[in-house]
Parts: sequence; structure tokens; C-alpha cells
Amino acid sequence: MNRILRGILLYRNTDRLQMVKEFEQVRDHPEPKAVFFTCMDSRMIPTRFTETHVGDMFVVRNPGNVIPHAHHFEDEYFSCEPAALELGCVINSVRHIIVCGHSDCKAMNLLYQLKDPDFSSQKNRRLSPLRSWMCTHAGSSLTKFTEWKNNGMKDPLIFSSETSTRKFVAYIDPESKFALEDKLSQINTLHQVSNVASYGFLKERLKTHDLHIHALWFDIYTGDVYFFSRAAKRFVPVDEDNFHKLSEEVRKYYS
Ligand SMILES: [Zn+2]
Repeated sequence: MNRILRGILLYRNTDRLQMVKEFEQVRDHPEPKAVFFTCMDSRMIPTRFTETHVGDMFVVRNPGNVIPHAHHFEDEYFSCEPAALELGCVINSVRHIIVCGHSDCKAMNLLYQLKDPDFSSQKNRRLSPLRSWMCTHAGSSLTKFTEWKNNGMKDPLIFSSETSTRKFVAYIDPESKFALEDKLSQINTLHQVSNVASYGFLKERLKTHDLHIHALWFDIYTGDVYFFSRAAKRFVPVDEDNFHKLSEEVRKYYS
């Protein structure tokens, strides 16, 4: 806690006044650009690797950057992720939803172990909210991954996106650079796109191309950030070589 207190003191003496100026700038005309879902991992600092600032993004974090599918929620039983979607995209008019996964994700490593029926038994899930969270809300990612892995990990995967008829194709880690758990993390990240689209209150805006869902993936080992390009059908590093092509894709399809 002292680390945090010292940090607050340092912030007061360095960044605070600048931030107050930025609060004033956006107070009367807030224009948040995105709702950004990512993992709670302490190494993930999305405002740093996107260089975004006060007023730019709503950020929602949980273990494994999971957005539960709408069919889990009936009556009053809810988690925060759909509420965050409503706050961002209904109360505010944010036009871009981003799901960002990452390598060496402890939640994904755990999800990978949950393929063992003993490890994911009902008894163990009762003892572990994290196992329960992963089994309930990311089990479908694991199923998709397991089928793909059993077929030799070369086949393209198909994900549904903004509407049930709009789909995209994905080749996962075609150069096989990443560990199995990281491949699972990429599949899980893409799977969340359809989970976001499952909420009825977003459907009209999604259908009319007024609201878009994107996937990013952060490589903890190199600091590289990947954008899922539906044109290239894979995660493409956002770097000097690819920037113009990716930027053109975003301008053409998502503006
Ligand atoms: Zn993680």
C-alpha cells in the first residue's frame, strides 16, 4: 500500500494539474471513442499502449477479457459487462467496442487446464469463483479451441460478428509463434466479438453499421499490439509496415 501512497504523492506533484486541465476540456463535450474490454492482468495498461487520455475510452477489465453471452442473463441476474456496454453504447453513443486479449494470460492458462474434467468438476467450481467464471463464460472458447486443435490447428475458424449472418474467417497463429494457451487466448478474444453482439439493446446499431466490434491482442513478451484484420483473416501487428493498410481497412469498413 505504501507503494500506492508514494505513487499518489508523485502524481500530485507531476501529472495532477495537467489531468485537471484535461478534465475541464472534456467536461462539457465528452466524446469517448471506445468501450475497451481487457484482462485485469497487472501488465496490461491499455491507456499506455494506445496512448489514450482522459475522456477517450471506457475501460472494463476482468479475468480473461470475457463478455458473458446474453443467454446467461435472465431476470435480475447480471454481471457488470453488459451494464458497461449499455453505459458506453446506449447512454453514451460510443461507436467502437474493442476486446483485447494478451499472451501469457493467467486466466487463459487456467481455462486451458479446465479441459481436465476433474479440474473443472462441479465441486471444484464451487470452491473457485475463478474456475466457475471461466467454465461458465469462456467454456465455449475452450470448446472451439479444442475442436480446432484436434483437427491439426491449420483450419480457418469462423466467428459470427455484428449480426448472426455476418461472419468472419480467422487463421489463428499461422506461423505458430505462440504457445497453445496463447492460441486459446486469441480464439477467446475473437469469440467475445459474438458475445458482445448477443445483447438485444445493441442489435439495431450493429445491424445498421453504426456500432463496430474489434479485436486486439497484446503480446506481453514483445510489447507488440495486434489488430484482427478481417481482410487479412488474422491478427496483424500494428507497426510501421502495416499501419496504412490497417488504417485504410478501418476507414473503409468501420467509419
Ligand atoms: Zn489475462
